[in-house]
Amino acid sequence: MGIKLLVVEDEEKILSLMDSFLRNEGYEVITAADGAAAVKLYIEHVPDIVILDWMLPLMNGIDACRRIRELGQPGIILVTAKDEETDKIIGLEMGADDYLTKPFSLRELSARIRSLLRRMNREDRSGTDPVMRRGELTIHEDSLQVFKGNQELRLTPTEYKLLHLLASKPGRVYSRMQLLQHAFEEEFIVDERTVDAHISKLRRKLEDDSSNAAYIQTVYGFGYRFGSGGS
Ligand code: CA
Repeated sequence: MGIKLLVVEDEEKILSLMDSFLRNEGYEVITAADGAAAVKLYIEHVPDIVILDWMLPLMNGIDACRRIRELGQPGIILVTAKDEETDKIIGLEMGADDYLTKPFSLRELSARIRSLLRRMNREDRSGTDPVMRRGELTIHEDSLQVFKGNQELRLTPTEYKLLHLLASKPGRVYSRMQLLQHAFEEEFIVDERTVDAHISKLRRKLEDDSSNAAYIQTVYGFGYRFGSGGS
């Protein structure tokens, strides 16, 4: 069985370019020119990946993305002319897996599709393992694996528990005591500063050295919270 793509774009020229390029790459391609048609075609064809323009007639890309996420689990690449961080965050919250900013090259599009397919295959092999997606992070709730992009992060059980709790409610602040009670067996008596040590190790694994602690944020005088991620 081939890989089925749904490409949604209202600019005819771009749509036909993407259509012929992706067919050439060996994909089965379905196209739509507005958001409402995209949702309808998604239901009919259940494609593996949806490439969705942000600005669309009838229903915009964000709303279409949200609807499609309610219907199934395809990979979704959102295409946007906007390059603002807030848009990116909205898109990720609506369930997009990746982003492309216009203008993009067809080679870039092809690379993003391949990378998304690799991620999805790995997730599929874990069966029904529920997955929490946060920015570039995927947190597997049964196999307890954590990936950043394509790379698996080697977390200790304590680090996994801390990350899982924080990431399950982005933005919510947890006190050190709450984190401690969650992450450690009750019979151990642990100093609250132990939490800081674990958080700091976890951060080093999550963050690129250039990034500024985007995933786990310190709330001074209280504790920690999970941020939006991204750089
Ligand atoms: Ca458009």
